[in-house]
Amino acid sequence: MRDSNLLEMVQAHIAKCGCDLGLDDNVLEILCSSARELAVSLPVRMDNGKLKVFQGFRVQYSDALGPTKGGVRFHPDQNLESVRALAALMAWKCALHDLPLGGAKGGVICNPKELSKGELERLSRAYIRGIRDIIGPHKDIPAPDVSTNSQVMTWMMDEYSKIMGENVFGSVTGKPLFLGGSAGREEATALGGWFVVREAAKEIGLELNEAKIAVQGYGNVGYHSAKLAPGFGCKIIAVSDSKGGIISEVGLDPEAVRKHKSKNGSVVGFPGTKTISNEDLLELDVDILIPAALEGAITDNNAGRIKAKVVAEFANGPTTPEADDIFGKEGRHVLPDILCNAGGVIVSYFEMVQNFDMWQWDESDVRKLLDKRMVKAYGTVMSASREYKVTMRQAAYIVAFKRLVETMKARGWV
Ligand code: GLU
Repeated sequence: MRDSNLLEMVQAHIAKCGCDLGLDDNVLEILCSSARELAVSLPVRMDNGKLKVFQGFRVQYSDALGPTKGGVRFHPDQNLESVRALAALMAWKCALHDLPLGGAKGGVICNPKELSKGELERLSRAYIRGIRDIIGPHKDIPAPDVSTNSQVMTWMMDEYSKIMGENVFGSVTGKPLFLGGSAGREEATALGGWFVVREAAKEIGLELNEAKIAVQGYGNVGYHSAKLAPGFGCKIIAVSDSKGGIISEVGLDPEAVRKHKSKNGSVVGFPGTKTISNEDLLELDVDILIPAALEGAITDNNAGRIKAKVVAEFANGPTTPEADDIFGKEGRHVLPDILCNAGGVIVSYFEMVQNFDMWQWDESDVRKLLDKRMVKAYGTVMSASREYKVTMRQAAYIVAFKRLVETMKARGWV
């Protein structure tokens, strides 16, 4: 997918839902613009002694509802436009789930697979030095995203703390438990997604017991989606990563697949499985397809061949607008990203609350509160979809925009 497509997709949704809600042009203009964007050059000393300059971005899309929130992505295919689109999705996501947070996103153009641990640490610290003026616990709070994890968050928090001259644990979320992290944060995106899948299955009469699942992507979200599946009665029959996919009709052991991937660099070659391509995986005859990788995986080229009864978007922006139109015409059950994958930012919000209180909640409390929020958001989106006679995606956008626009009006911004 061209990067600009994600931004075009976000803008197309703004226009469509703006029309449904009868929003005036000024409001639409604000919704189409990001509030603040920062591009930084990050000189990093590489292990060979040479300096390499990386490009990084932080986009704060909207802070109408509160401090901005969103992950930082380390990936070679980044640019300001893709980060802007992802920041907008964070703003809608936080609004839809009624969080007192705005939306942001960060990105660094790099290939983390080619960096040593030391280089990764120096890059993470350089990024924080680059964006230090616009972040902080009450301004903008970075978190993990594609190819960033709790170790990267620890370096970032440590760098910010050094700059401020005091420990500022609340400057990032997704930290390890012993440094102010929250129980349940690692699995949160996947778990939140499963709660939505469970609600949708009840609604459409899909039996989850022994339901066949395919997961596209085996990073943090993909792995945890697979790991949590048996807890919801489901069977993972296929998974993939950037190198290809594997299938086993008897079902896969997610933990064993993870070990195989960390040893061999891919899920491919896992004993007792057949190798398939990423495209094959998306078109398998399964009950639920979980795209959990990068944006733009489902396009007008493959949407018509997708057989899954439910497409649960655990990734951000996996479906292009053209593919979405095809799904809309077919009446396929699509659980949109901003509804489905908000578990991560919701538990990040819980982490912020715990940091402000200097407290740590039990994992069972985190799960219960996350469950309650996902069920509520699902119900709200379902009702809006009936009221406006639109797809779940349009309904999710409508709910998010209503909240954002009401807040902007109350603040006198529009
Ligand atoms: N990166 C996650 C997302 O896309 C989580 C962001 C956060 O926790 O702030 O929703």
